[in-house]
Amino acid sequence: MNRFLLTVFCVACFVSCKSTQQTEAVQPAKTASKQAPLKPSKVNGPRLTSYWQQHVDYTMDIDMDVNTYQYKGTQKLVYTNNSPDVLNKVFYHLYPNAFQPGSEMDVRSQNIPDADGRVKDRIGKLKPNEIGYIKVNSLKQNGTTIEHETVGTVLEVQLAKPIQPGESVTFDMVFDAQVPVQIRRSGRNNKEGVALSMTQWYPKLAEYDYEGWHADPYIGREFYGVWGDFDVALHIDKNYVVGGTGYLQNPNEVGYGYETGTVKRPNSDKLTWHFKAPNVHDFTWAADPEYKHDTMQVPNGPLLHFLYKSNMPKDKLENWKNLQPKSVELMQFYSDHIGKYPYDQYSIIQGGDGGMEYAMCTLILGEGNFEGLFGVTAHEMAHSWFQFLLATNELTNYWMDEGFTQYFGKWAEDKINGISFEKSTKQTYDVYTYYVKSGTEQPLTTQADRFHLNRSSSISAYYKGYIFLNQLAYIIGQENLETTIKEYFNNWAFKHPNRVDFIRIAEKVSGLELEWYLTDWTGTTNTIDYGVKSVEGNTITLERIGLMPMPIDVSVTYTDGTTQDFYIPLQMMRGEKPTTATTLNDWAWAYPTYSFKTPKTVKSVTIDPKQMMADIDRENNKR
Ligand SMILES: [Zn+2]
Repeated sequence: MNRFLLTVFCVACFVSCKSTQQTEAVQPAKTASKQAPLKPSKVNGPRLTSYWQQHVDYTMDIDMDVNTYQYKGTQKLVYTNNSPDVLNKVFYHLYPNAFQPGSEMDVRSQNIPDADGRVKDRIGKLKPNEIGYIKVNSLKQNGTTIEHETVGTVLEVQLAKPIQPGESVTFDMVFDAQVPVQIRRSGRNNKEGVALSMTQWYPKLAEYDYEGWHADPYIGREFYGVWGDFDVALHIDKNYVVGGTGYLQNPNEVGYGYETGTVKRPNSDKLTWHFKAPNVHDFTWAADPEYKHDTMQVPNGPLLHFLYKSNMPKDKLENWKNLQPKSVELMQFYSDHIGKYPYDQYSIIQGGDGGMEYAMCTLILGEGNFEGLFGVTAHEMAHSWFQFLLATNELTNYWMDEGFTQYFGKWAEDKINGISFEKSTKQTYDVYTYYVKSGTEQPLTTQADRFHLNRSSSISAYYKGYIFLNQLAYIIGQENLETTIKEYFNNWAFKHPNRVDFIRIAEKVSGLELEWYLTDWTGTTNTIDYGVKSVEGNTITLERIGLMPMPIDVSVTYTDGTTQDFYIPLQMMRGEKPTTATTLNDWAWAYPTYSFKTPKTVKSVTIDPKQMMADIDRENNKR
């Protein structure tokens, strides 16, 4: 809905601007009404639509060889085109191909000035039996073989027959693949000895949405997928324990802590693990012969699974035990503050190369200290809401998943640890200010792979994204922010929201106009700097030094020792936040200064006493 309104506005503006230009430059004004009607478009289908999303159901059968790290797979997709467009082609991601010498990920890592220490030049040194790959042996559309070409990490597919709006088609694929040596996120034998971290490991259909295809190459940053149901049968050495996305369908044939009754394993070298995951946009698993598997029930919530190496030192094993009740608290915090976790299962699995969020699970490193283990769990679990359920595009709106996750992850972590969240927030603002002063800032809307520096990408997404929410609480009030988050979840869980969808919810909750905030904070590197220009008797004059507009909270101490809080709404907000402060007249942005009179003689003035505004120079906020 929100997108519909936005698009109408943009297209209307474009057309009227264009015709005005023609009128002025080419024709006398009086002939303007005789302008020829627009030619019929060659592009079929309506340009303007309300929200829709594609759907795909996966059925996969995977045969894993734990000695060669190779696997063979068959994949059946039932793909439904819910778009208003006729599709002539489709794209798949073949993410494991990134782990080959000369890949875009390899070359980018060797050219960026601050390469990720996990990647550096390691991909370039992989031997043929250490690389990752997916080789597509055959691909059929409704039984007919179709043309396909592997181009780096993307499979380009020319369809035999276009897919009409509303139509479902079946794609059958047979593929061979190899698990790379662990470099980034997925791989074999990670640094803590976990055998298989299987993330982004299968041919994954690219998403098609209102912006068109998202067949992005895998260069460094993250993912975007099509919602649907997964049915995965995995055949693997009988000594391996598996954790991951999806509910195990045959727990009593498997055991290993999943059983619900007597375990009866078939007499074979391999076990079949049959998983089903409803309504997800990714499927991840990890496996190791030394995994210990514990579970803990969240009251009124999911069953938590913990899979970690049983041969860790004793104190590390203790950390994993202590993590379990705290993970219950985390799950409760997020369910209370964002929206109820909708699946019956969530798994915290030792694996990968740090911490990374996936469907119904996370893969994290597991041998650090307890503080780190709990911190990374808090962060990754929060991602179940921000990016998983509220499935923003991680390449184009990287800040929405990392920033929101960082904010809620820190909030939950600090709350459960009984320490001040304000301190984490202050540190976050300090990092942002440092970033601004470094001169390397790029707008938050920069595509996540297109930052000059990895550091810029991270500070933008994690820190400036975090401040986006905390500062929004300053603009609309804390209660309105909390309601906004819940309404965002209610409206957009299991969908693909974007930044406009989010701010429209905040506008509806608060009754305030907020497009200016979204535009300046996310689309530009404009900064906030307000200052106290002068205090003369009982007249205070403030000034706006930075380009970015903001409403202003001011605290005044009088010579008699009393204090008074004032609130100056920003005119373009067309309203005020709920406040107990004395509300003054609006400040319209273009005016560089603003004066007001106080009832008593002023001793001192402070702008934004709670320091919620990311003012890059706080020196001039006091007088
Ligand atoms: Zn994250």
